[in-house]
Amino acid sequence: MPAANSPEPPSTLELACPTCASQVRFAPGTTHLTCVRCGTTTAIEVRTGPALVEQPFDEWERDNDGRQVSSLGGVVMTCEGCHATTESAALASICQFCRGHLVPVTQPDGVVPPSGVLPFLIDRRQAADAFVAWVNDRDVGVDELKNVNAAESFTSTYLPLWTFSATATTAYEGQRGIRKAVRLDDGRVELRADWHDVSGSVDTPVASHVVEGRDLGIGQSRIVRKLDLTATVPFQPEYLAGHTATRYDVDPAAAFDEVRRKVEKKRVRNDVRDDIGGDETRIESTTTTYSDVRFALLLAPLWVLTYIAGGKTWMVLVDGRTGQVEGEYPIDRVKFTLLVFKWIAIFVLGFVALISLPTILDSI
Ligand SMILES: [Zn+2]
Ligand SMILES: [Zn+2]
Repeated sequence: MPAANSPEPPSTLELACPTCASQVRFAPGTTHLTCVRCGTTTAIEVRTGPALVEQPFDEWERDNDGRQVSSLGGVVMTCEGCHATTESAALASICQFCRGHLVPVTQPDGVVPPSGVLPFLIDRRQAADAFVAWVNDRDVGVDELKNVNAAESFTSTYLPLWTFSATATTAYEGQRGIRKAVRLDDGRVELRADWHDVSGSVDTPVASHVVEGRDLGIGQSRIVRKLDLTATVPFQPEYLAGHTATRYDVDPAAAFDEVRRKVEKKRVRNDVRDDIGGDETRIESTTTTYSDVRFALLLAPLWVLTYIAGGKTWMVLVDGRTGQVEGEYPIDRVKFTLLVFKWIAIFVLGFVALISLPTILDSI
C-alpha cells in the first residue's frame, strides 16, 4: 500500500532530456524522441498489439448519456521547465511561458482517449519544401506567395478522427422491372418494363468508416479522404511530444449520425438496388438499423501554415505523412486574366484550324 504522503503520479509525460534537461520532441519519421537543444535521442518503447481498438458504441452511450465534450474540463499540468500550471483540454500543447512540451498521460472521465495514431513522417523542412513546390504550381498566385517563410511558420498538430464499424441492416420495399419487347401500333418494337412488387432486407458491412472529429481548416477533408489507415500504430503519448493536438469537438453521437448519413446515402442505396435486381429498379422505402456498432478515436498528423498575403490571412494544410498540400491562396488578377485570354486564344486557333482543315485538304 502506498504511504499516505507518497507523491502524486505525474499528470504529464516527463520530457526532459537525460543529457541537458532541455525538452525532447518526437522526431518525424523515427521512433525516437530528440532533444531540441543537444540532439540526444531516446528510443520510444513502442507498444505492440492492435492499432485501432474500436469499443462498443452502445456501452459508451449508456455510460455517457447526454454528456457533451464541450462541458468537460481539461487536465491541470505542471510544466517541467518553469513549474507553471496550465489547465488544458488539448492532448498535447506547448507551455506558454517557456515553450516546454506538455503532454497529459490521462484524459478526464467522459473524454474518449485515442486508440491509434498515424505518427508524423515528414518534418518541418519537408513540409516547407512541399509548400514551395505547391506555390510554384500556382500559375495565377500573387508573387508575394514566393516570399512566405514556410519553414519558420509551420506548426505541427494532430487531427482527431473517428472511425466506426457496424453492420447496417436495411428493410426495403420497391419494384423490380423486367424489360420485354412490345410491338407498337405502327409496327415498331419497344422495350418496356413489367413491374413486380418486392420487399426484403439487405446487410451492408461498415468497416472503419472515418469522420472528422474537428475542423481545422479548408482542404482538411481532401487530406482525410486519402489517409492510409493501414499505417496506424497503437497510440502512445510520446508521439505527441513537441507537437500540438486538440481534443475532438464532435461528440461520438454526432459523429455516428454523420457516418449513418453517408453510409445510407450511397452504399445502402446501392446494396438495396443490387438486392432488388431486374433490368430497372424502383426503391419505395427503406429503414436501416445498425448492430455491433464499434468506434475509436484516431489521430492524424498535419503541418499547418497560416500566412498573410494580399492583405489577408490564408491557411494551408500539409499531410504530415505524404506531404500533400491543401489550402487557398491569393490570386493575381492580371495573371488570371492573361491565362483566360491564353485559353481563349488556344480555343479559337484550334477551332479555326478545324474548320479550315477541309479547305486545306481540298487544296492539296
Ligand atoms: Zn539535451
Ligand atoms: Zn513552462
